This record gives sequence, C-alpha cells and structure tokens, in this order.
Amino acid sequence: MFFTNVSHDLRTPLTLIAEPVAQLAAAKNLTPQQQTLIRIADKNTKILQRLINQILDFRKYENGKLNLKLTEIDFAKSVRDWMESFYTIARKRDIKLTLVSSDADEQLPVALDTEKIERVFFNILSNAFKYTPDNGSITVSYGSDGKVLTFSVADVGEGISERDLGNIFDRFYQVDRIHPNGSGIGLSLAKAFVELHGGTIAVESTLKKGSVFTVTLPVKHVAGEVTEAQKNIGGKEVTAELDTIDTSLMVDSDKPLLLIIDDNRDIQKLVSELLADTYNIITASNGKEGLRLSARYVPDLIICDVMMPVMDGLECCRRIKNEVTTSHIPVLMLTACTMDEQRVQGYDSGADGYISKPFNSAVLRAKCTSLIDNRKRIKELWQSSLMPAPAESKAPQPEKKDIPTGDIDDDFYKRFLAVFKAEISNSDLSVDKIASHMGLERSQFYRKIKALTNYAPVELMRRLRLQQGRTLLLTTDKTISEIAYDTGFSTPAYFTKCYRDAYGETPSEVRSKMSR
Ligand code: ADP
Repeated sequence: MFFTNVSHDLRTPLTLIAEPVAQLAAAKNLTPQQQTLIRIADKNTKILQRLINQILDFRKYENGKLNLKLTEIDFAKSVRDWMESFYTIARKRDIKLTLVSSDADEQLPVALDTEKIERVFFNILSNAFKYTPDNGSITVSYGSDGKVLTFSVADVGEGISERDLGNIFDRFYQVDRIHPNGSGIGLSLAKAFVELHGGTIAVESTLKKGSVFTVTLPVKHVAGEVTEAQKNIGGKEVTAELDTIDTSLMVDSDKPLLLIIDDNRDIQKLVSELLADTYNIITASNGKEGLRLSARYVPDLIICDVMMPVMDGLECCRRIKNEVTTSHIPVLMLTACTMDEQRVQGYDSGADGYISKPFNSAVLRAKCTSLIDNRKRIKELWQSSLMPAPAESKAPQPEKKDIPTGDIDDDFYKRFLAVFKAEISNSDLSVDKIASHMGLERSQFYRKIKALTNYAPVELMRRLRLQQGRTLLLTTDKTISEIAYDTGFSTPAYFTKCYRDAYGETPSEVRSKMSR
C-alpha cells in the first residue's frame, strides 16, 4: 500500500521532469557535452517511469484490479514489429538476433491484451540482451497449433544457476550480479500478465550456456476484424534500457585529437595553447612514448619534433607510418634548422609535412587544418564509394582505386576485403574473427576501419553486403531470398529492411522496376 501511494506521488513530478528533459534532448543547439548529460537524464527518467508503472501494475494485479483488454491481432506481424526496436542495439553489440517461426510467414490471428503481451515480450527480450555478451546470439521463436500459442526467447548468454531458477519469477528477486537497470520486478510482472491470459511462462537455463524463456498462451478469438496492434514500446525505451551512453563524448567530440610529441615542455605547451581551441590535445615527450600513445589513441594528427632523446622524430614517424593501426595518421614534423629540413626531405620517414622552428602560429594552424582536411576528404571518398548512388543518378561514383591511400592502408583494406568476401555469405561472421584473421586486436581493428572509412566494422560489413546484394539484384536472376542468404543476411526480411534503409526502396521494388 505504502509503495503504491508513494509510486502514485512520484509519478506526477516525474512526468514534469521527463517532459522538459525530452524537449531539451531534442534541441539542436546543444554542445556534445550538454547532449551527453541530457541523454543520461532522459535515459534515467524513462527507466524510473517504467519502474513506477510496473509497481503500480503489479499492485493492481495483486488486488485483482488488472483487467484484460482483448483485441484480435496478427501475432506474426506483432512479433516482427516488437523486434524491430531491438535491431539497432543488436547491430551495435554485434548480437545476432533471429526470428524463427514454425508457421512460415503465415498470419497468426489471436486475441490478446497486446499492451501487456508486448511488455512481457519486451521484458524477456531485454533480459536476454542484458545477460548476453557482445557477439552472442538471441533467437526468438513462435508458433501455434491452433489451441495454444507459444513464443520463446533463447539466448546464448550467462545462464541462471539451478538455485536461482526457482526464484526469478518472484517479486524483487535478483540474482547476485545485479544489472544496473534491474529491479527484479520485470519477470514477476511478466508472469502476472501471462497468467491473466490463462497462460504460463517457464524457463530452462544452464549456467554459462544460456537461457530459454517460453510463454504459452491459450488461443482465443474475439469478434471483429484483425487490427494492427498499437506499438507502445519503441526504440527509445529499448535504448534507455539497454544502451550505454558513451561518456567519452564528454571530451569535446567535435574536435579532432592531436598528439604532440616533443621533448621540450615549452614547445609542447606553446603548441597546445595555440591549438587548444580547435583540437583535443595529448602530449608525449619522446618518440617511444609518442609511438605508444599513437597506437593507443589513434589521433587524427601528430605533430612531432625531429630532435628528441630515446627515439628521434624521424624514426618515430617511420614507425608510425609502418604500423597498420597508425599508418593513415598525418604527421607534421617540427624542424629546428634547415639541416633538419633536408634530413626530413631526404630521409624516407613518410612525414606528410614539416614546419621549421620558430614557427608562425598562423602557418602552423593552416598546415594542421590542411592535413586534417585532406584526411577528411579521403575518408569522405571512402564513404561515398561505399554509399551506392541511387539507381537514377548518373553522377559518377568514386572508385576505390581513385582514392589516395598509402601502401600499408591499401594493403590492409585489400586484405580485409579478401577475408570478408571469402565469408560474405556467413551471417555469423564476427568482427572478432576478421580482426584475428588480420592479426589485430578487436579495438585496433575497429579504430583502423573507422579511421579509414568512417564506418564502424559492423556497419562497413553491412554496406559491403548491401552493395553486393544490389549488384546481384541488378545483374542476376537470383531470387531475393537467395541474394539475402548469399550476402550473409540472416533472413530475407532483414535484408529487405536494411536495403530499404540504405537505398530508399525495397529489393522487390528494384526488381519490379527492372521488369517494366
Ligand atoms: P530485472 O529487472 O532485475 O532484470 P527480472 O525480474 O526481469 O528483473 O529478472 C530477474 C532476474 O532473473 C535478473 O536479475 C537476472 O539475474 C535473471 N535473468 C532474467 N533473464 C535472464 C537471462 N536471459 N539470462 C540470465 N539471467 C536472467
């Protein structure tokens, strides 16, 4: 009773916080830092709101005041709609999310309280996401024999110990490793909603192997047309529940990262002060440390002194340019005398430019800007070479071969393409696997691909799959399903969705245009 009263009291002020926060979050003129802060607030008000609603619903259920509002819906379509909101996070975390139906693509009309079953579904699917590591897989299946409708969510995740299995549907029960957003009420409410329908919810699980939650509902029908179930839980709720906010954005993410390598603290300071308004800056005081920092942070630009102890600037630059994780980074050498300049020019260190001390601040700025812009242009070329032009457009698309790249980058990308293309039809192909094929750690691989192409690896791979899909669509007689599987999409529906997102038309529209 106390909980209920408090929850009611909390709801009004919370709404009055949530609304302004949501409006602020949508504002266009926020700095990245403000955006991050407001997103944290927005995310957490959503979580609080959901919690309070859950407590109130649970109380209603216990008092027998929770009613069922049955409407006739197509369950097959609803499941697809509900899952839609989870694909973004699945993509981001490289989790393979699959839908399996035992009645292939047929409609599945049934009368349900859709709002409640959507919540049940949301709860068990988001639990699956919470307790499944990146690169894992989650499978949603459903089917009906006409009398009962069953749906289940299976994850290859942490699993639940035998001791806990008997309790997880109890109110406020949480297994020790508490998820930051958890409260232990979700499953008990899911059970209440399912039982209200006269159904059951069950779980099978093995620790370290994964869990399967299965909901069984009696098939009922009510008079009237099959209506489209209204969707109550959207991408925003899923993000609030499952996505982490990247607080590294708290550093001004709009600014490029500059590494200054110089043994002279005064020069470090001077250059930092000159450029601090335009760049985020890190510093190293010799070539060796510079190398370490450049591999770790993969900055957007490096300014490097020629004369330094431990490892001199030319050696440092040569090694930066020979290391696949850093080879694309522009390096500007600081030289003290014309002798140095000659050395820089004569010595094949791969530097992208040099500037002699004492330097003029305007010249320094201009050189930095031009190096960064150059790199940006190259990135954009990559990006547009991967963003196929709409079918109608006759504008020439940059070819990969027109893009200036160093040998190492070129070789890196070629090797990546070879590894990827050999397995393009494998929808299980993970970023980890490619990275290890390429002899890089996952994070190094990620940064390199991102630095070269502006795409995260998963995104790049999807682009390449789509590109290949488009080529097959336009140049072969293969069916859309064949093309989807050939290019490594787990289902034709997912292929269609991604294709539409990328090209603004569906594969079948492309085909019907061709046959016209
Ligand atoms: P919470 O809001 O804390 O997630 P739930 O009632 O939804 O509460 O879940 C209760 C507990 O059951 C969770 O704390 C978690 O330990 C466990 N659990 C639920 N789903 C899974 C799953 N798919 N894999 C592993 N553990 C799970």
